[in-house]
Amino acid sequence: MDLGLSGKVAVVTGGSVGIGLAVARGLAAEGVHVAICARDHARLTGVADAIRQEFGVRVLPVQADVAVAGDIDTLVEAVRAEFGGADILFNNAGTGSEETILGAPDEKWQHYWELHVMAAVRLSRALAPLMTARGGGVILNNASICATQPLGYEPIYNVTKAALVMFSKCLATELIPHGIRVNTLNPGLVRTPDWEKTARLLTEGKAQTWEEYLQAIADENAPIGRFATPEEIADFAVFLCSPRASYAVGSTYYVDGGWLRVT
Ligand code: NDP
Repeated sequence: MDLGLSGKVAVVTGGSVGIGLAVARGLAAEGVHVAICARDHARLTGVADAIRQEFGVRVLPVQADVAVAGDIDTLVEAVRAEFGGADILFNNAGTGSEETILGAPDEKWQHYWELHVMAAVRLSRALAPLMTARGGGVILNNASICATQPLGYEPIYNVTKAALVMFSKCLATELIPHGIRVNTLNPGLVRTPDWEKTARLLTEGKAQTWEEYLQAIADENAPIGRFATPEEIADFAVFLCSPRASYAVGSTYYVDGGWLRVT
């Protein structure tokens, strides 16, 4: 199926590893030029070179912390200077947390609000007018199944991802008259290098191997009995970013191996 994406420009936050990298690669494979951002400059530029070489598209790596408003400005200006605008925005950069509500200080709540919500607000606000000028566009926000079905150890993650879903819904209504489709992706368990690192740490010196640890988590939570690969999430995301998903507006899509227990 031709997704009709060739020649488009996409901005992918957190594009240097995990789901963001898989989506950047998936888009590049469809002929999309990509701007990717992350904080670790060396890893980002290495990945940018690799995508450029493999897929022959233009790749713009921009070092930016999306939780910082000034860095969002830097990213937007770099995209404007290189491509004149963008057609696709994948708000993906984010991370889990671990705390109790009674124990976490205001600063931690504020940080995750900036990272998971304000980054998407600021980038959408800056890029939407440029998309409209190009005839429309797509914004896809990467939240989590935890936005609906919380994990007990990370209330701040759950709350800020739930806020991202509602932001997405409101933005969809505001932007569809301008030809911009906004949707949310809610992945379940996705086997990224970060999950593997955590599993290695938690099983150090224990009888259970790190692979067994991950398998136990999958068995406990996902009826499919395994983690997704980042590419399985990316295939879905790339489709949603394409004109083939032209009637998908303001929705939240779970890609979770059956983990969600209620709708
Ligand atoms: P990874 O930790 O594998 O990758 C995160 C990416 O985001 C990296 O490129 C990282 O680069 C970048 N990043 C992190 N913080 C910032 C920041 N402040 N500013 C800019 N870039 C940043 O994460 P995943 O691929 O696992 O997760 C991606 C998204 O998917 C997250 O929002 C996560 O909540 C969500 N998700 C993940 C699931 C999973 O099981 N893996 C399940 C459900 C949702 P650098 O560190 O260099 O900045």
